Amino acid sequence: MNFKIIGLVIFAVTFLYELLLAFLDWSSKDNPTPENVRDVYDGEKYKKWLSYHGETCAADLVNTVAGFVIYLALLGFDVLPKIAPSGNVYLAAIEVLLFVLTLDALTGGVYGYVNSMVIDEKYGFNKRTVKTFLVDQLKSYLISVVLTVGLVCLFILIYEALGDWTLLLFSGIMAAILLGISALYPFFSKIYNKFTPLPDGELREKLTALLTKNGYTVREIQVMDGSRRDSRANAYFSGFGKTKTIVLYDTLIDTMTPDEIVAVFAHELGHGLHKDTLKNAPIAVLQVVFIVVAIWLTVRTGAIYPDFGFAGVNYGFAYVLASVIELPLIMPLFSLVSNAVTRRAEYRADAHAVEEGYGKELVSALKKLSGDSLSNLAPSPLLVKLYYSHPTLSQRIAAIERAM
Ligand SMILES: [Zn+2]
Repeated sequence: MNFKIIGLVIFAVTFLYELLLAFLDWSSKDNPTPENVRDVYDGEKYKKWLSYHGETCAADLVNTVAGFVIYLALLGFDVLPKIAPSGNVYLAAIEVLLFVLTLDALTGGVYGYVNSMVIDEKYGFNKRTVKTFLVDQLKSYLISVVLTVGLVCLFILIYEALGDWTLLLFSGIMAAILLGISALYPFFSKIYNKFTPLPDGELREKLTALLTKNGYTVREIQVMDGSRRDSRANAYFSGFGKTKTIVLYDTLIDTMTPDEIVAVFAHELGHGLHKDTLKNAPIAVLQVVFIVVAIWLTVRTGAIYPDFGFAGVNYGFAYVLASVIELPLIMPLFSLVSNAVTRRAEYRADAHAVEEGYGKELVSALKKLSGDSLSNLAPSPLLVKLYYSHPTLSQRIAAIERAM
């Protein structure tokens, strides 16, 4: 049994799956727009959507193919063993990781540049300067290097000391880190954005009234400078429990009426009341545990390494195999389940906004959000099942109108 051949075959299969998704996305341009969302785009805007959609699909396709070709070459021609000659397990792992993370940052940077600074710029979405873009890329690169190198070294330390018990201990550590990161999200978001309190007025009063009515204490309502990067609007809750911070993008305040913003928040509140973030946690933890199991199995199976040109076990390479080959094989199953769960949660959250009496405003807010961001109004049903975390705009409006 040659692990290299098996690995490359699996890699090719996951690549074909990515191509299928790309094809489904691209071909949705031929789907008829559902009746209840035809007023989102007029003739002019529909043409704009068509060309925007075509260009983003092309960029995604090039990125997918380039990623496949690069890793096929790296793995096929045994490039990684040549750049990691160290005898020390830690150094050898770090050499592989630094090489791969830097390569990912470069290819991801080029893709991000084309997406944001070229395509989004052309359609008026992009508000980043080249400097903001580069600084963002650098911050993300440093965070990924520190996290990945740190965690892989911790894994080596524990594995060399405890052997198979690592599986339990490290899964626990990873799950704790995962939950910690979501708890620390407000802190992380400050690395990228500035927050200011929402001034007193109609919007503040209405939001506070909605929350107190539902038994929530609002710690702070903050406005985030989303317009520094992008013209598209958004809003979210952050923090845990009954004391929450509301974050509104400044772009949301600029484009929507106070009632539409409150409607968006009544939806978010629906998520809060149903504890939807908490319900997603087990799936996220399961995913993390799977990655740990994949790395553990790869580290344990010593015969893998000579097949890929290594003299012995390389923990950095185990991470590469787990993230590039093993995870993409199982990921579609995870997304199938987790997306079905989140799509149901979206309907429930919309229903809550209707209960609060904001059904009509939610429909107009959703239409504005979709129209302003040139969303796909008629994605292929198979793509929605496989890939979409939210129901389509048409499906949501139909459900909201039934509930009203
Ligand atoms: Zn939602």
